[in-house]
Amino acid sequence: MKGEVFESISCPLCGNDEYREVLTTYDRFDRQRRLKFFIVECKECGLRYLNPRIKEEFIGNFYRDTEYDPFISTTGRNDLQSLLYRGFRKLNLGFKYNVVRGLKLRGRLLDIGCATGEFLEVMRKAGWKVVGVEPDRVSREFVVKKGIRVYRALEELQGDSQFDIITMWHSLEHIYGLRSSVESISRLSKVGGYVVVAVPNVDSYGLRVYREHWVALDAPRHVYHFDFGTLVRLFGLYEMELIRTRFLLLDTFYNHVKSFFLKNENMLNFYYLICTVSKELIKTCVVSQKNISTLIYVFRKRG
Ligand SMILES: [Zn+2]
Repeated sequence: MKGEVFESISCPLCGNDEYREVLTTYDRFDRQRRLKFFIVECKECGLRYLNPRIKEEFIGNFYRDTEYDPFISTTGRNDLQSLLYRGFRKLNLGFKYNVVRGLKLRGRLLDIGCATGEFLEVMRKAGWKVVGVEPDRVSREFVVKKGIRVYRALEELQGDSQFDIITMWHSLEHIYGLRSSVESISRLSKVGGYVVVAVPNVDSYGLRVYREHWVALDAPRHVYHFDFGTLVRLFGLYEMELIRTRFLLLDTFYNHVKSFFLKNENMLNFYYLICTVSKELIKTCVVSQKNISTLIYVFRKRG
């Protein structure tokens, strides 16, 4: 079984075969934690990635857990965890809207990994022409019901006209075929257009504290773990220049709370959770954004 489901890969960024293991983790939905996953670091470019990883044809099975947060709208659940996620999502939607508004007021927007389409709906209401890409069939049906055009994969869009803004809110780290996808994104972007990429930050303070329990590792669904250097290098290969970074503050709370419970911390240790959240936020606000849970990169396509 193992030999059929897993595949070993070369570095998805530079193609080098040499790496060192940096962390062993598990699938947070696997109660018995039977499968082990290895995060390695490329000796050439420093990209951290899952190796071996689940073959692409099997990875869909790892998204269908009813507790998988981004598809929570498809389950109709109303328990505490779902309500918590929906609350965070609503607050984050306002933040994402403001990030886009700070770049451009109207135009064509593509959201890659749009899940059930809530962000696209907000942007459409604000006057944008919107299109989504989402590999999960059940989630796509929710987008279609909203009357929004959605594709299964990026390749299906190749003949389409170009976009003013392309957003990827926590989707790049899931995409197989890393370089070909970023190449397509660059091609789909207008010259002078923007690409907004939000990814978990592998240099986050939370990962240092929670190690294999850090929820943003999310093996085997996250196949890459970017830091500032590797992400900027990747987009730089395809004529995208970094113009600014931002951070998603709410992700810090969400990631620390989820990781705290994954680690099975005693509730009496609650002060520990408060300390880890505060430390990450203070470091970010006082020192630099370098150790925040989620970094948002804004790239512009060169002319
Ligand atoms: Zn590499």
